[in-house]
Amino acid sequence: MSVLEAVINTSFSPSSNTCLHSVSLHGICIACNSIVDELDLYRRPFEYLSPGLQLTQDAVALTKRLETLSSSLGKQKLHLVLDLDHTLLQAEKVYRLAEAERYLIGEAGSRDDLWKLKSSDFLVKLRPLLRDFLREANKMFTMHVYTMGTRSYAEAILELIDPDRFYFGKRVITRDESPCTKTLDLVLADERGVMIVDDTRDVWPDHKSNLIVISRYKYFRMKRSQHYSEEKTDESESKSGLVDVFRILKEVHRRFFKVREELASKDVRLLLQEIAFNRV
Ligand SMILES: [Mg+2]
Ligand SMILES: [Zn+2]
Repeated sequence: MSVLEAVINTSFSPSSNTCLHSVSLHGICIACNSIVDELDLYRRPFEYLSPGLQLTQDAVALTKRLETLSSSLGKQKLHLVLDLDHTLLQAEKVYRLAEAERYLIGEAGSRDDLWKLKSSDFLVKLRPLLRDFLREANKMFTMHVYTMGTRSYAEAILELIDPDRFYFGKRVITRDESPCTKTLDLVLADERGVMIVDDTRDVWPDHKSNLIVISRYKYFRMKRSQHYSEEKTDESESKSGLVDVFRILKEVHRRFFKVREELASKDVRLLLQEIAFNRV
C-alpha cells in the first residue's frame, strides 16, 4: 500500500533523529525498529490488513486523508463499504428451511446464485444482479466488506463472490475486529469520500450521513415475509435494491468529480443529503 509507505516515511525525522512510531508490526516500529507499547490506547490495530499491524491515531488520520486524496485525484475512485447479509445475499441454516424450500438443497451449486457452504450448514442465495453490481461499482469505488459475521463466515462468502479478491483485496472487516457496532474508524479512507450500503441503519451509530440504507433482501422464508424461495421467483430487476442503490452511488460519484478544482473539498455526506432532498 503506497499511502501507508508514505505515512511510514513521515514518521522518522532524520534531522532531529526522532520518530513518531506511526506504524508498527508486532510491537516493532517499521520506521526505526524501536519496540512500541502495543497496549497504548493511542495505537489502533488493523489486523485485517496485516497481522500485528498497528497505527497511531495521527497515522490513521493521515492515511485516511492521503488515501482519499490520491484515489480521487488519480483513479477517480471513492470508497464503498458493503454489508453482506440481507444486502448482497441471504444465508440460511439448512435445517431451518421450510418443506417447500427443501428443493433448493438439490439445486445448490448447479446455479450460479445458490450455494451450500462447505464449512458449515448454510445455504447462501446471492442477490439478483450482484455480480453486475460488483463489476460496475468497482469502476467507481475501492470496495470494502464490513460484516457482523465471523471472519470464517466472511471468508466462505468471499470464496463465492470474489474468489481472487479482485474487488475486495484484504479490505474485509468482520465481527472479529468490530464486535458490537460498525465504524468507519476501521476504514482507511477519509469519511468525506466513503459511502456505506447496509440494510441495518442502527449498526452505524456514528456514520449515518455516509449510509445508504438498502431494502432488506429476503429470499428464504421468514416469519410473515414474502418468500421468493417457495414461489420459485426472486427480486425483479424493476424492484431491485441493488439497482436503486447503484443509481444513487453513480449520481454521488458524478457530482463529486464534476469540478476537478473542487475535489479536495467535496464531501459525499453533503451530496447524499442533496440527492435525498431533491427526491422528496
Ligand atoms: Mg445486513
Ligand atoms: Zn519509530
